[in-house]
Amino acid sequence: MATQPKVHEQVNESCEGLLPERTAQLAADDSGIKLSALRRKLVRRAQPDHSQALRRSFQFAFLLLNVWLGGAFYFWVRRFEAGTHDRTMLRPAGVEGWLPIAGLMNLKYWLATGRLPVTHPAAMFLLVSFLAIAFLFRKAFCSWLCPVGTLSEYLWRAGQQIFRRTLHLPRWLDLPLRSLKYLLLGFFVWAVSNMSAEAIEQFMRSPYGAIADVRMLNFFRDLGQTAAIVLGILVLASILVQNFWCRYLCPYGALLGLASLLSPFRIRRSKGACIDCAKCAKACPSVLPVDKLISIKSAECTGCLECIAVCPAEGALQIALPHWMRSRNAGRLPAWASAAGIAVLFLGIVGFAKTAGYWNGDVPDYVYRQLVPHAAEVDHPGQ
Ligand code: SF4
Ligand code: SF4
Repeated sequence: MATQPKVHEQVNESCEGLLPERTAQLAADDSGIKLSALRRKLVRRAQPDHSQALRRSFQFAFLLLNVWLGGAFYFWVRRFEAGTHDRTMLRPAGVEGWLPIAGLMNLKYWLATGRLPVTHPAAMFLLVSFLAIAFLFRKAFCSWLCPVGTLSEYLWRAGQQIFRRTLHLPRWLDLPLRSLKYLLLGFFVWAVSNMSAEAIEQFMRSPYGAIADVRMLNFFRDLGQTAAIVLGILVLASILVQNFWCRYLCPYGALLGLASLLSPFRIRRSKGACIDCAKCAKACPSVLPVDKLISIKSAECTGCLECIAVCPAEGALQIALPHWMRSRNAGRLPAWASAAGIAVLFLGIVGFAKTAGYWNGDVPDYVYRQLVPHAAEVDHPGQ
């Protein structure tokens, strides 16, 4: 019985007598392979990539730091509630990283008056360090440091293991949902920009402002039914949809994404070295078409370096330095330098605030002794 010739046989037959390159082009066109991929041979990377091991150790260390901060703060609050607080027990000011709005208000206060804030100053120093990291290393706070980003990442990876796939929302739904985080950010920025420096100072000095951190803790301790249901839905969505919280809802990530647009560093693809295998695009947690772009300028890029880690071709993907920093032999930033830069910015800014005496607020213990046990009754100053 006669069988249909296969596509490549048909192509080979129809190409007889043509130049070898033209033959390859026709064969490639017919079989869906790009000619560029045929011409470019894979030059394998000589050095193994350690960026993801580094990133995971940063994520783990920051998660542990936050667990320690949360535990220490909880026991500090419990001592006040039980009336057994003594001077030896210090409030861990690092919990103010969970007060991003206070950080934004304090930053405006500092820029407007030139005076450093004295209530929740650590919130501002942490915000400044994360903005500095975003400026240099894209939204690396989200993929290297943020404990919520870490939990979110491991939730969708767990979902991928369980269901053998992760949901990607269709473009018509993905785009409007992505704008939600910018709307939330816009609301907070609008609210803070409408406050004068005096209004910010009054708010921070009010009982409500002084114990904003305690109220945040109590929100999670006494989770109401509605809040628990919302949290449950977010966890479920994060298991099913890749990066659900970070991609669609986090206003902090939106702010850092906008700051990262100013960054002089970019992930760059070299067309000459790339073999169009598309592994980078498949690995990108932000679903960016890395294999189609030359330079990744998107505010969604978290600087996670996963695309570089999976790329098999030497020099095809790298963190490119700006033109003015390039020399003949070095035009790229290695992953270890990126990790070191993130650590130096974070530890440098926090270390400066601590050694200069700006890290801790000036709310005295006797005020906490009065307010902490009655945190639920303290009203917002606007009420
Ligand atoms: S482009 Fe690369 S660095 Fe940016 S988010 Fe995607 S995988 Fe991460
Ligand atoms: S992983 Fe991306 S950049 Fe690297 S060779 Fe494949 S397509 Fe090109």
